[in-house]
Amino acid sequence: MLQVNNIDVFYGNIHALKNISLEVNEGEIVTLIGANGAGKTTLLKTLSGLLKPKQGTITYKMQQIGGKPAQAIVKSGISHVPEGRRVFANMSVEENLELGAFLRKDRDGIKKDLDHVFELFPRLKERRKQLSGTLSGGEQQMLAMGRAIMARPNLLLLDEPSMGLAPLIVQQIFEIIQTINKEGTTILLVEQNAHMALSIADRAYVIETGKIVLSGTAKELQESEEVKAAYLGGV
Ligand code: ATP
Repeated sequence: MLQVNNIDVFYGNIHALKNISLEVNEGEIVTLIGANGAGKTTLLKTLSGLLKPKQGTITYKMQQIGGKPAQAIVKSGISHVPEGRRVFANMSVEENLELGAFLRKDRDGIKKDLDHVFELFPRLKERRKQLSGTLSGGEQQMLAMGRAIMARPNLLLLDEPSMGLAPLIVQQIFEIIQTINKEGTTILLVEQNAHMALSIADRAYVIETGKIVLSGTAKELQESEEVKAAYLGGV
């Protein structure tokens, strides 16, 4: 579904992604784990068109999307839930969700998906009129995910959904990621919480200072001594 081949991304002189290749197959949950500053966010921003690769190709459903504008990439079926959520604080929950569907014209479909988001996140339904800036961190994460779902993506890019959230909320968010996947959405999940990410993923990549250093099935990486020592707290 998605093939990233040998991409290099720079911020000025800083070489943030070095010859990165990875693939995501339809129906999978693939996770990219790595420490602070490894390049995880940079990779997702490049996939969603916010940054342009200097070299290499990004192919999505047989189309070359590397360097295309973000709007064209959303239209092709990729939605990005950014790090730190970035909901529109002065708009209600419902208005934020409607914005997620701004490229769609199928009113009936939009209404159906809104109801579906409220089924996935009953908390958002209760708070549909509330200003988004007053939601808790976990609720804002749910809203950011709900907004991305409203674009009806085939591929959902999630940037550290567990960040700053209490363990119980993280558990709920990860259960919902699995539900969304079972309903047919392919997922690329970026996480520092390697333990949680590997517990739901099919396959995984480890990124260190802009390079992929390991890859395999989630089970293989859970059992890897290197991953255990560096990312799973030595357990
Ligand atoms: P974190 O988990 O802390 O969010 P990350 O793996 O997502 O980390 P990135 O945000 O992708 O890491 O950053 C990768 C590298 O690129 C870091 O060294 C960072 O300082 C650098 N970087 C990120 N954004 C910029 C920018 N706008 N200008 C210059 N350097 C940047």
